[in-house]
Amino acid sequence: MKEHFAFEEIQDYLSCSLLYYLKYRAKMESLSWAPLTTADLPGEAVAQALGVFATGQHPEMSFRELVRAVWATWMKQKRIGADTVTMLLGYEALRGQIMSEFLSGKIKKKGGKHYVEPRLSSRYRQMIEHAGLLAAAEQIEAHMLEPFGVSPAELELIGPYRMADAYADSLLMADRYPLPEREEVIAANTDVVAKSGAGIEITVRAKLLLQGGSGTTAVVHLDEPVFYFDATWAGRNLEAIALSLHDGQAHGVGDVSQVVVRHLMSGQAVARRQLRTSRLSLSLLHAARGIQADLYLPQFLSGDFTRCRKCPAAIVCLDQKEDPIEAAYPGTLSWSERVVLASEKAGMSGDPALRDLVQALAETAVSTQDLARFMSGRDDAA
Ligand code: SF4
Repeated sequence: MKEHFAFEEIQDYLSCSLLYYLKYRAKMESLSWAPLTTADLPGEAVAQALGVFATGQHPEMSFRELVRAVWATWMKQKRIGADTVTMLLGYEALRGQIMSEFLSGKIKKKGGKHYVEPRLSSRYRQMIEHAGLLAAAEQIEAHMLEPFGVSPAELELIGPYRMADAYADSLLMADRYPLPEREEVIAANTDVVAKSGAGIEITVRAKLLLQGGSGTTAVVHLDEPVFYFDATWAGRNLEAIALSLHDGQAHGVGDVSQVVVRHLMSGQAVARRQLRTSRLSLSLLHAARGIQADLYLPQFLSGDFTRCRKCPAAIVCLDQKEDPIEAAYPGTLSWSERVVLASEKAGMSGDPALRDLVQALAETAVSTQDLARFMSGRDDAA
């Protein structure tokens, strides 16, 4: 029985258990599962720069310079032209000036309050447009999106999220990142194993694993490139819950005693100490047990289609057919049903091996046509 899980599997199962089935059991490769988007790049650049920081190489470089070096490496690998790189640097410098007027409070809202998300204000948009940055972002996009192989992201309320903004935001995140003392760092951007009880192990990535006065600390990043941060998210973060279950043995340290959830755009952080004993930590175990027991429930049965509309499997689940597996693999259901009917006639319906066979056939999407091809091939060979 499967006892070791990747964190992403648990996350996908909790998001929708049918999604788990289609992605990991039926392995529907024709669907585009969680493609990397432009919005993933700032967090990834920061995480990779932390990895370099932890090695102790380039102690002379600031964190901003390390993040820039990550981008420079990516752009070299993707063969981005020098003109585009120059345009990107110019974009970041000019956008940084405009953004800092809002973030520093030089430009305030009408009532005198600070802007939390300047990109929602018409003033910011006008300034960006007048500075020619909208056109520049389009040009940079045309030269970078395809070589990077990422999909364009759309941020809620804000709109399209360009490569140029991904670059600029990653540097802003670097400026707001309080680096630990190097000697506190046990590991950075590294996979650790969370032990969820009953022999269940979950591999999850720690952005930082630190050792200091408060014992072993794991750091989680909230890296969606938006400024708004709600501190209550920290206690509901599944990654943080998983990291709290790491026993530190592989690194020769003790149990994780606290998890710091760091929101990269706002620079805010929340430390959580009770997650290991929180009842929420049982959700990991329950999800793993659901997978082990083949429990799959489509999210659409709740009647709320919000998640389904954004899901890569929507084309399967929101199809006209009642059974999503049948929509994905036409013919599978009737083939499975016929096996069941035949087995009942033969008095074998209670046979567990037969149940396993029906399930395995459904999962490998063997259709009646496949079976016919197989039988005719066998007859020919005979
Ligand atoms: S479309 Fe909805 S029900 Fe289907 S896998 Fe996605 S979230 Fe689940």
